[in-house]
Amino acid sequence: MTTSATPVRTPIRTRFAPSPTGFLHLGGARTALYSWAFARHFGGTFVLRIEDTDLERSTPEAVQAIIEGMEWLGLSHDEGPFYQMQRMDRYRELVGQMLGAGTAYHCYSSPDEVEAMRERMRAAGEKPRYDGTWRPEPGKTLPAIPEGRKPVVRFKNPLDGEVTWDDFVKGTITIGNKELDDLVIARPDGTPTYNFCVAVDDWDMQISHVLRGDDHVNNTPRQINILRAIGAPLPLYGHLPMILGADGQKMSKRKDAVNVMEYPAQGYLPEAILNYLARLGWSHGDDEVFSMEQVVAWFDGSHLSNSAAQFNIEKLNWLNNHYIKQADNARLAELAKPRMLAAGARFDGAPELPAVLALMKERANTVNELADAAMLFYRTPQPDAALLTQHLTDAVKPALAQFADRCKTVEWSKEALAAMIKEVLAANSLKMPQIAMPLRLIVTGQLQTPAIDAVLQLFGREAIVARLAKYL
Ligand code: GLU
Repeated sequence: MTTSATPVRTPIRTRFAPSPTGFLHLGGARTALYSWAFARHFGGTFVLRIEDTDLERSTPEAVQAIIEGMEWLGLSHDEGPFYQMQRMDRYRELVGQMLGAGTAYHCYSSPDEVEAMRERMRAAGEKPRYDGTWRPEPGKTLPAIPEGRKPVVRFKNPLDGEVTWDDFVKGTITIGNKELDDLVIARPDGTPTYNFCVAVDDWDMQISHVLRGDDHVNNTPRQINILRAIGAPLPLYGHLPMILGADGQKMSKRKDAVNVMEYPAQGYLPEAILNYLARLGWSHGDDEVFSMEQVVAWFDGSHLSNSAAQFNIEKLNWLNNHYIKQADNARLAELAKPRMLAAGARFDGAPELPAVLALMKERANTVNELADAAMLFYRTPQPDAALLTQHLTDAVKPALAQFADRCKTVEWSKEALAAMIKEVLAANSLKMPQIAMPLRLIVTGQLQTPAIDAVLQLFGREAIVARLAKYL
């Protein structure tokens, strides 16, 4: 099922808010793409926010990796990157205001005490939660403050009622306030906690639409309650279902290529990844191939799928092949060259790489496959002796000698070469493979190549004449 209508709030401001604890993963990239496309569609603003308050897990390398991934995909932000760690004063200011307004309170229960209350509730078959010991209520006397203990600050979550929002991916979601704890919003050292920072940031950054993974559905009612308590307008929320691995299970580093930057390393083009991710959880009729201009033109927040998408490498390969075929050959050459050099390619005096790639790209699923296939033009051929014996027979040799001779003078075009080969075949009563196979072996060292006339033409007269001379 897909959603049909998205309420639009203006101005449109979306954000991508990764936690820099690793690389940019596929699910994150899809969230970024949808947030970006949605903002672009409505002429809005796309904000990049780095949620780096988890000091133990956040690293500058991960920030870099995320920014690199976004750049590779071409998902440019209009504002930011904002770093939560640089906004601590603002969070503290708001915690102070909430304490003053009575929407938050100091809680002096020790971690052990909190654990003990949770244990008791679990034992009683209840959902474990903070029991409200330090929650001020009219007429209630609070316990004496334990000496020397630093308090946490808890949010005074409404006790009754429910939180409901019209999720523009999942439809209406309702969660009872009874399900929600009085969330700790500041630790004993005063540092604010995750949900609080997200809510404050979404307010300060005037986010109109929050698009994020559905692993955050449980956070949303907490954030909504905090936003209400601080008098902030609510953004609209859309929670995207996960991307499952090819096996239908949760994706994992171990078995899936979840790091976006593995894809360029494997020879995928960014436009293929973007197209693939756009379609993975969103649709526009039956279209499978679309440019980012089209995604921006069509992506209005409707037709988002509310069921999990399954990763399908065949489809990604098909798209990548499509975009390789469309890609400028000089660009492909730039991408293929490092891999070819590492494999020992020698480009001096060899055919132009863009022309070679143009000939070979039809069948390549990745730039790496293309680079590997193109190597046949850039290494010294070493035909297997047994294959030579099999294909370069005495019956074929005179014809090949004629061919080699005519190579010296024939017009060096694909057409002229093809015509000349036909003449040699006819004069010697041979069939195409009888001459094409040994030719391929001698010229390239392998039996499988693109059309022989095209291969010969690309190598050039000198190289062909020299290679043939070695065997005849
Ligand atoms: N930092 C969160 C994450 O990386 C995203 C938070 C959000 O989008 O609200 O999962």
